[in-house]
Amino acid sequence: RQIEDLTVDLSAFTCDFFRVEAIIRPWRLQNVISALSASGILGMTASTVKGAGVQGGRKERYSGTEHGIDNLVEKERLEIVVLRSQVDTVVRIITRAAQTGEIGDGKIFVHPVADIIRVRTAETGISAEKMEGGMMDRSSNGSGA
Ligand code: ATP
Ligand code: GLN
Repeated sequence: RQIEDLTVDLSAFTCDFFRVEAIIRPWRLQNVISALSASGILGMTASTVKGAGVQGGRKERYSGTEHGIDNLVEKERLEIVVLRSQVDTVVRIITRAAQTGEIGDGKIFVHPVADIIRVRTAETGISAEKMEGGMMDRSSNGSGA
């Protein structure tokens, strides 16, 4: 499957903003952040989490054992709220920068966001979402493409 052909199905929602939540390998985080920043995605939140997937919480490879807090693997969660038109671009950038092809590369979840409030100015909606010098400022259609 080609990353360039990857598209996210947002048809279940009519909202203007989405939160892209990526659970990735910690040692790939810096690579992902650099790739996003280079494209003008400047607003993001990272947190360290613990999880289990097909990887089964095993540090090495899947071996089908039980899951418990002791064998959860440390992951990095990167959350990025973007415009609807930017979701495909952002998901492709993250996938490209986080992919190794091995079990444990992680997962990306895309959530609808009803509204955004910038606390400093009390702006809402598109004014609150826009970042100075961000992807929208760099391209005419705001997709970053
Ligand atoms: P401003 O100068 O516009 O008031 P600020 O410094 O008060 O900005 P930001 O830095 O824009 O606020 O945002 C505060 C925090 O919110 C950031 O550190 C980041 O964790 C989170 N954040 C901001 N924008 C986004 C976004 N688009 N997606 C995810 N998290 C974001
Ligand atoms: N949509 C914003 C912009 O283009 C960027 C959002 C972000 O950096 N997370 O200005």
